[in-house]
Amino acid sequence: MTTTSNTATSTASTSERWIERYAGAVMNTFGPPKLVLERGEGCRVWDVDGRSYVDFLGGIAVNTLGHAHPALVGAVHAQMLRLGHISNFFASPPQVELAERLLALTACGTDGRVFFCNSGAEANEAAFKMTRRTGRTRIIAMEDAFHGRTIGALALTSKPAYREPFEPLPGDVSWVPYGDLAALEAAVDEYTAAVVIEPLQGEAGVNVASAEFLQGARSITAAHGALLWLDEIQSGMGRTGTWLASHPSGVVPDIVTLAKGLAGGVPIGACLGLGEAATLLQPGNHGTTFGGNPVATAAALAVISAIEDDGLLANATAMGDRLRAGLAADARVTEVRGCGVLVGLTLAAARAPEVVAAALDAGWIINATGPDRLRFAPPLIVSAAEVDALLAAWPSILDAAGVGA
Ligand code: PLP
Repeated sequence: MTTTSNTATSTASTSERWIERYAGAVMNTFGPPKLVLERGEGCRVWDVDGRSYVDFLGGIAVNTLGHAHPALVGAVHAQMLRLGHISNFFASPPQVELAERLLALTACGTDGRVFFCNSGAEANEAAFKMTRRTGRTRIIAMEDAFHGRTIGALALTSKPAYREPFEPLPGDVSWVPYGDLAALEAAVDEYTAAVVIEPLQGEAGVNVASAEFLQGARSITAAHGALLWLDEIQSGMGRTGTWLASHPSGVVPDIVTLAKGLAGGVPIGACLGLGEAATLLQPGNHGTTFGGNPVATAAALAVISAIEDDGLLANATAMGDRLRAGLAADARVTEVRGCGVLVGLTLAAARAPEVVAAALDAGWIINATGPDRLRFAPPLIVSAAEVDALLAAWPSILDAAGVGA
């Protein structure tokens, strides 16, 4: 909004005034914000004008326990009162306990070690450096992959629009079609340091790798002495109804990267090295000031406990199935994908941005991952009543967006 007079300023909504201030102060890397939010509770958020929305995006697969969950708020508050930050010269009980719990939950009984950091891209940076310590440099990634925006993570991300403005990026990376075992087999050789796969490609619109593909990738990498690195930053920590999206395949990788939902919205990332990969990084090879911070790790422990105590893996499975079945019932939806509460769909018309806008008008937050692709990633606590209410509103949202039959 542009305001040229005091009158115009005084009639602007509170949201509009914040958006104008945002434009004048925050770097324009994301375009204008759709909403200015000031509070949340459960799956609902409120904007600065008091309008409420049901959050079926969950901070892009981050708000595992929704908003203002008492267990998470309590854990952060208690840890901040006790000890907020220390340097990496020292350890803290929540840091050690979280590393142990992550290995127990995700490592399938394999010996492992965890490096803590602050985001998904940073977790992938750590993993990238691990691959360099093998003495090999070649990495095979997947077409349509998204691994983050730092220079190293970007080097693995396939989308030209993200990569090209920053080239040259670290090299020796090539991409094979997602799910194509023959192409992977042809690409991996004795020079390959690692194969990196998202078991579920979230940013690409929720593409799910088959168990056979992950198992094949495990065999191929093992045969060539290459690392298998699973990026579970979006798909991990219960979102798909299991602790890792790759768990149903039975595959034990060498590296797992986690972030997003791990601490339910408190910034954290983790890079797990399993088996021999656990010792690839040695003292002096890597570091970060905030990694393993007591508050972030206490938050993650609270999230893990709430998932266990409140049966949220089962809830994610049941609510995701319910959402997918309901969305698929509309003929204007041509395909529904995903696992648990990471749901993607393709529309019969390329009107995904219009559907996002119509949903927002109707009080629902969802996300477009392409011209005809939508993503839903509600908190793991989402209820049947909330799913059913979205499904009841769905036909009129598609009507309002002009998605014809
Ligand atoms: N890897 C995957 C699979 C992701 O989905 C994302 C973020 O969307 C990232 C890495 C980067 O994470 P962050 O945005 O926390 O750096």
